[in-house]
Amino acid sequence: MDDLTQLPGVGPSTAEKLKEAGYTDFMKIATATIGELTEIDGISEKAAVKIIEAARELCNLGFKSGSEILNQRKYIWKLSTGSKNLDEILGGGLESQSVTEFAGMYGSGKTQIAHQACVNLQCPERILADDSIRDEFLNEPKAVYIDTEGTFRPERIIQMAEALGLDGKDVLNNILVARAYNSDMQMLYAENVEKLIRDGLNIKLVIVDSLTSTFRTEYTGRGKLAERQQKLGRHMATLNKLADLYNCVVIVTNQVAARPDAIFGASEQAIGGHIVGHAATFRIFLRKAKGDKRVAKLYDSPHLPDAEAMFRITEKGIHD
Ligand code: ADP
Ligand code: MG
Repeated sequence: MDDLTQLPGVGPSTAEKLKEAGYTDFMKIATATIGELTEIDGISEKAAVKIIEAARELCNLGFKSGSEILNQRKYIWKLSTGSKNLDEILGGGLESQSVTEFAGMYGSGKTQIAHQACVNLQCPERILADDSIRDEFLNEPKAVYIDTEGTFRPERIIQMAEALGLDGKDVLNNILVARAYNSDMQMLYAENVEKLIRDGLNIKLVIVDSLTSTFRTEYTGRGKLAERQQKLGRHMATLNKLADLYNCVVIVTNQVAARPDAIFGASEQAIGGHIVGHAATFRIFLRKAKGDKRVAKLYDSPHLPDAEAMFRITEKGIHD
């Protein structure tokens, strides 16, 4: 819990009220809206602006110069998906300091990609990074797997690991799995990753599988949509912060919903609307093809062209 009295105009009693309203740390305040904070007794609109700005600064959410960003981007490393075709359209692999979204129908391969990423993190040949970056960031890297659907399978990890000549148990020991039964647990687990890192665990891969299923079942109906989007936005901000500050690869999976209103173009779309769309750096749509083949379509990337790649899912895992 952060010391909220560090914020301008926040004394012990306002700090207490903020905590009671669920604003227990700077990050929650940094991602709150002015309207939300003014609902708290004794916080004016002017005060809310100041408090949010200060919290953003403390969370490093403020502005950075272009050269600072360029400097930070020097440390980017890439994690192979297991498929060379898919890596290629991603510009080499899953990029650190970014959130990559995989969306698709059931069985399209989202969970398999997530499992394979955990295994590949333990395979130096499947990491694309300069030696200096390896030395500084990739020493005994660990993965966090936030599982909201109960589909994490250690047996599958062992199978994929052994296909690469790795020891399955070793790989499993480097994955921290958290089963989230609702969206509050899911958000809390993501927020706690920072604590794990500060405690000395070198977490370099964070997976949320699935990002949206808990939100979708808990916030049904139009009346709940605004609240759902706000919480999802906050969750995505947590994930983006992990990616940026700790040079992690972040993967989120997303279901797709049929679009009854679609006349032209896509008849399905990823859940979460603009909130998820803007917060994910790379968005990939997966669909089934013949047999074990899958097609990945990259769209909406800031610096890569839209493209498609074919890969396969077999007992060995994800490959071309
Ligand atoms: P989702 O997109 O719903 O998360 P999954 O990633 O769980 O889908 O993909 C499930 C599919 O992956 C299965 O239908 C099957 O085609 C394939 N698959 C899963 N495990 C294995 C395995 N051990 N060997 C071969 N194929 C597998
Ligand atoms: Mg799945």
